[in-house]
Amino acid sequence: MRPIMSRDYMREVHVDMIISAVEMLFIDANVNLSLNVIDAIKGAIAREESTAGKEVLTELINNAEIAKEERLPVCQDTGLAVTFVEIGQDVHITGGSLFDAISEGVRRAYQKGFLRKSCCDPFTRKNTGDNTPPIIHMKIVPGNRIKIIAMPKGGGSENYGEVRMLTPAQGREGVKAFVLDMVRKGGPNPCPPIIVGVGIGGNLETSAQLSKEALMVPLGTHNSDPEIAALETEMLDEVNRTGIGPQGYGGTVTALDVHIEMMPCHIASLPVAVNIQCHAHRIKEVTL
Ligand code: SF4
Repeated sequence: MRPIMSRDYMREVHVDMIISAVEMLFIDANVNLSLNVIDAIKGAIAREESTAGKEVLTELINNAEIAKEERLPVCQDTGLAVTFVEIGQDVHITGGSLFDAISEGVRRAYQKGFLRKSCCDPFTRKNTGDNTPPIIHMKIVPGNRIKIIAMPKGGGSENYGEVRMLTPAQGREGVKAFVLDMVRKGGPNPCPPIIVGVGIGGNLETSAQLSKEALMVPLGTHNSDPEIAALETEMLDEVNRTGIGPQGYGGTVTALDVHIEMMPCHIASLPVAVNIQCHAHRIKEVTL
């Protein structure tokens, strides 16, 4: 691997460094649940009122420990390779294209890590064979670093995501009703306890992206806007009152958290997206 070269504040980063980082991130994310998620599930065991629910949550912790020890995936569905990249405007990538580097990193991770390849043609269902192409969300930011976040995302939870263009008059109550509708529709299928990402505002595609970004917010934290933070708490209570419970066995912990990301929208619209994540919330990041 070639070293990083400095030229004043501009940095050159060779694609080899990106390939290695992406390979490491997707293997690590799949076999090693983050402490934040482990702690959230442990906290849920204390809060859960049903015996079956407590047992399920305890098994999830046992499963995560075995996966870490044996270097095995936490879940058989090792997901589509969702990747968020924040690239400093003073970074110059050398040796190839960023997209190809991320694809190669994903390819190596799923081959070397013996992770299931879950990517296929939408109609023929023919597997692409190496879990590529990755899904890449890119942001250009100030500075000369590259931050890469890997979030392998399973199909069972992704299937219960949706974008709805609400009318402005539907307001907060309309958003709450939509979120609850999606949670009830999913029931046990997205493998609760779930995490609910809600994107509000922007337009059709940005609301969807915001809902995915909402899933990256650490569990147990809230939006910096007190009003939105209160709405997150309110919605979490309502989701947990559905009684779906861990893995759908009934209980008081259906969700570990609800996170909202919001931005301004058109005066005629209220776009809202819901993106549901399962208990196997696999997310790892590195800054190069
Ligand atoms: S929804 Fe999550 S936990 Fe359930 S099978 Fe898919 S990846 Fe695994």
